[in-house]
Amino acid sequence: MNGIYIHIPFCRSKCPYCDFYSLTKSIDLQRLYVSSLIDEIKTGKRFKGIFDAKQKIFDTIYLGGGTPSVLSGKDIYNIISTIKENYKITEKAEITVECNPNSDIQSLIPYFKKCGVNRISLGMQSAVDIERKKLGRSSDKQRIFDIINELKRNDFDNISLDIMLGVPHQTLDTLKETLDFIKECDVKHISAYILNIEENTPFYKMQDKLNLPDENTVCDFYEFTSDYLKNIGFTHYEISNFAKEGYESRHNTKYWLLNDYLGLGPSAHSFINGKRYYFENDINLFLNGTPPVFDCDGGDEEEFIMLRLRLKQGLDLDELNIKYGETPVKRIMKKVPFLQEQDLIDFENNIISLTEKGFLLSNTVISEFI
Ligand code: SF4
Repeated sequence: MNGIYIHIPFCRSKCPYCDFYSLTKSIDLQRLYVSSLIDEIKTGKRFKGIFDAKQKIFDTIYLGGGTPSVLSGKDIYNIISTIKENYKITEKAEITVECNPNSDIQSLIPYFKKCGVNRISLGMQSAVDIERKKLGRSSDKQRIFDIINELKRNDFDNISLDIMLGVPHQTLDTLKETLDFIKECDVKHISAYILNIEENTPFYKMQDKLNLPDENTVCDFYEFTSDYLKNIGFTHYEISNFAKEGYESRHNTKYWLLNDYLGLGPSAHSFINGKRYYFENDINLFLNGTPPVFDCDGGDEEEFIMLRLRLKQGLDLDELNIKYGETPVKRIMKKVPFLQEQDLIDFENNIISLTEKGFLLSNTVISEFI
């Protein structure tokens, strides 16, 4: 089954750590962009000769960004309903919209319901107001709590919260405050990302003054988060993702399982019939109808190994053998005893999966295998 990703490259303001492609431009540009997106969904002209989305069946739609919730409810409704009118979307498709708590989410809810949005991903980052402020987020904890309750009152039970580990001034106590808040909110999915200081961001230039926790402390945060969330009923199903049973992100799982997905909008990536494409980080190119750039062939043996090991379900060596032959299996088997001894992997029923320690040191473990 296939997925659709729609990139909304607008934000109300730019967070100082963020290097995603997004603009803080005028409402006119947003209107132009939404109508260009809708035209692409209807005609598929940028993908002509590459992919005919009308021939495929999709079971996930994901509006990410940027900040999709800066759009009006009507725009979001128009984008999703155009997808539904023009493509084959399964009845129980997962339809996610990423929202920033400082958007007017209450006004979006009726439109979400009308077009079948059934999953909300809220970019909370931290429940500690001073940490959120450092990250450039203005809404406070009470507001986030109120939004979650409003969503629940409107029957949105599939809510995901993003949190960040290793943010300025974070301590184990403040992290616990964020996790206690998650417990109180009783949401179904958590994405926990370690803050990475990217070049060309304000944080990069001021990193010495940010009061960032050191690397060992961030590792402790990761382990603490994982233990805490597991104790309150979450499964750690991917390196950075936790879900209550049945609430794993179906869309994001497509990336790790190498399923096909179509990405529309500047900076959006697609994986189609074993090939990777992307739209350049330039809204004008998208508005002009420029087709996506061919990136590379995807889904080779190394990528398969790397992506499967991100998931708790792990790397099935029988499947690897069928797809890529016995050479990689033999190579991997040589590493198994050592990595098992180090408590970095589990090996059962011919499936290798990373332990909690392995998740934390995933780059090292994966590079051992590939
Ligand atoms: S809201 Fe999200 S996409 Fe926009 S600047 Fe902040 S982190 Fe980046």
